[in-house]
Amino acid sequence: MTSQRPLIFDLTYSELEDYFKLKDEPAYRAEQTWVALYKYFKVDVHDISTLPTDLRAQLGEDFLFEGLTPLRTIRSEDGQTVKTLFELEDGALIEAVLMRYDERRTLCISSQSGCGLGCSFCATGQMGFSRNLTSGEIVAQVMFFARELAKTDEGVTNVVFMGMGEPFANYKQVMAALDRLNDPRGFGLGARRMTISTVGLAHKIRQFADTESQINLAVSLHTVDDELRSQLMPINKKYPVASLLDACRYYVEKTNRRLTFELALIDGVNDSAADARALAYQLQGLLCHVNLIPLNPTRSYAKTGSPVDRAKAFCDVLEESNIPCTIRLRRGIDIAAGCGQLAADSNLKS
Ligand code: SAH
Ligand code: SF4
Repeated sequence: MTSQRPLIFDLTYSELEDYFKLKDEPAYRAEQTWVALYKYFKVDVHDISTLPTDLRAQLGEDFLFEGLTPLRTIRSEDGQTVKTLFELEDGALIEAVLMRYDERRTLCISSQSGCGLGCSFCATGQMGFSRNLTSGEIVAQVMFFARELAKTDEGVTNVVFMGMGEPFANYKQVMAALDRLNDPRGFGLGARRMTISTVGLAHKIRQFADTESQINLAVSLHTVDDELRSQLMPINKKYPVASLLDACRYYVEKTNRRLTFELALIDGVNDSAADARALAYQLQGLLCHVNLIPLNPTRSYAKTGSPVDRAKAFCDVLEESNIPCTIRLRRGIDIAAGCGQLAADSNLKS
């Protein structure tokens, strides 16, 4: 099933220009193609009516236009959350989620098939690492949902890298995908409407800070207790809390942007008032926001999410220390589309 043809979404604008130059086509062919792909979400090259018929055929021979096949789509009971399992050209599986919330149409997309970082509470971590996605495969997820939403005159308003995988472990491809989505000649999604969530790869946080990007950054902190964090997230042994928070302070200094800390609250594990006070102490003076989300259930982790009362009490402690805090709504739990619940079950292929 592997195709030799490159995915059209893998090309930068200038690579597309080079392609047409080689074919002795006028430069505006690149713009026509870019607009067809990223403003009109064309997936069948023969539908790109702005291009001559023979050129469409040539493009179709040279490039692949979809890159992913939806295998299964499930909707939450309230119909507001939709999760789709996709198969990539080589058979690798990924999932992506569309969440409708008020005016927002937020896509939660994947940067890798699986994840090698092994956080114990995360379904993606439990399935292991398969491979990095290319920038085109990342973009293709967004185009798929953009096409679906266009059918009801809706559009993608936000994109978050909170699906499968660690975006900073696939840094180059993720940045290239963000560039393509942000490009005003095409899809034109504002940088502030996109969010990268990282497990806390401190060196990559610094690298990202140096780009002075307007893209939002969320850091999955979960606890400031090194021993507990290492138990929950093996990567903490390499980048312990102090080094991670140093990188976060560097990010704020460099960009002047508020970053978000994510905490999955686990009943009796990281959700006490003392845990909240320790967190507040560590985050003092840092331009940030804390997002609390009661842990979602996954197959191989026995603990449960904290009750809402405890989450509220945790939030109160932070706010007393002037650290803004929200408790995130649980979305899509009935279809395992909540945070950390994405795992491609290959049985679904049959
Ligand atoms: N690898 C990145 C992004 C993908 S995970 C990261 O770790 O940040 C997206 C978010 O879901 C992270 O904040 C992660 O900690 C959280 N998460 C993972 N498993 C979870 C679970 N079972 N319940 C709630 N949140 C979870
Ligand atoms: Fe990977 Fe993020 Fe899951 Fe950890 S929480 S295993 S980094 S996807």
